[in-house]
Amino acid sequence: MSRAEATARAAVSRSAAGTAVEELLRLGLIRADLPLANGRGRPSSMLTLRADGAAVVACEVGTHETVIATHHLDGTLDDRKIVALDVPSMAPEESVVAVAAHLRQRVETVGPRCVGVGVSIPGMINRATGVATLVLPLNWRNVHVRDILERELQDMYVTVGQDALLAALAEFHLGAGASADRMLLLIAEAVGLGGAIVGLSSGQQPANHSLQAGHVIVDPRGPRCVCGAAGCLEMYADGRAFVRALGLGRGATPADVSAAVAAGLDDNALRALTKEIVVPFTTGLVSLVNALGPDRVVLAGLLAELPRLAGVRLEEVLAQSVVATAERVSVVPAELDDGVLRGAAYDAFSSLFRDPSAAIGARLTEAGTAVAGGRMDKEV
Ligand SMILES: [Zn+2]
Repeated sequence: MSRAEATARAAVSRSAAGTAVEELLRLGLIRADLPLANGRGRPSSMLTLRADGAAVVACEVGTHETVIATHHLDGTLDDRKIVALDVPSMAPEESVVAVAAHLRQRVETVGPRCVGVGVSIPGMINRATGVATLVLPLNWRNVHVRDILERELQDMYVTVGQDALLAALAEFHLGAGASADRMLLLIAEAVGLGGAIVGLSSGQQPANHSLQAGHVIVDPRGPRCVCGAAGCLEMYADGRAFVRALGLGRGATPADVSAAVAAGLDDNALRALTKEIVVPFTTGLVSLVNALGPDRVVLAGLLAELPRLAGVRLEEVLAQSVVATAERVSVVPAELDDGVLRGAAYDAFSSLFRDPSAAIGARLTEAGTAVAGGRMDKEV
């Protein structure tokens, strides 16, 4: 964006915006380029985030695979690595320490411009204390995840969040939730279904909550769920349910489901999908929409296929929701690849966004790196 746009968006005086821009240039976080003169007075220089300005390490802890990637300031996500870790079979602290060892390696590779580590876990986390209170897929109860990671990664800034909430943050800011006021995201994993609601409350402070959406009961006479209740939503709409409905056989993965859907489903398969997944899923969706009042519902993971496959049915069922009848509620597929990793990265950049000088200045000084990456191009 141009300097003039940045000043307008920040809603501060020209001199305050000028000081902030100078500081970001000095820290090497942005670049200022002069556009070609168009003969209408002095052009406003274009400000761009520098890919090499800063980075964070993003990590998604799963049951058997943990994914680690580097997310740069300009939004590029690269160096994606999958680490095989059988977390449920390990002692909780031991598994967090094992994840930390891989993260430390990556932090060292990124170097002094690494400003944080963002970790996603598939369960409940207290965001204030960093304690994972209950993560059923990993077999964790009251695990001090953030404390352990901070200890293992020395003074690195560490954030830990629930996977669905992180995916929701990414979609809200960068994907299918852009321009929504209050967005509900539901994501089907290989095992389990997560949800989160994100939005802007008054005062521009985000009002974000993770939900145990997978445990909304859609049929009390249904099969027993890992949480102890019967007929929970995730029994009907996670990866296992898709594999079953499409008759893919034991051992099939979410990737196999996506491949089957992409190859095209015949009428029988579509009927099975509607009966076994779409009907119970939309029953849960109506309750969630009524309780939470979103203006947009974003479906992620395998659920992202549903609006295209069963769009008509979703609209019909949503008409049973008093909220959806009174307000416009759109149901759309997620847009981002790696939404969870991008959300974890967004979270980890928060200290840099709050106070760039404190987040990166000290690290660079410590590392003996000159803080002059962003030399200001002379204004004419
Ligand atoms: Zn349940």
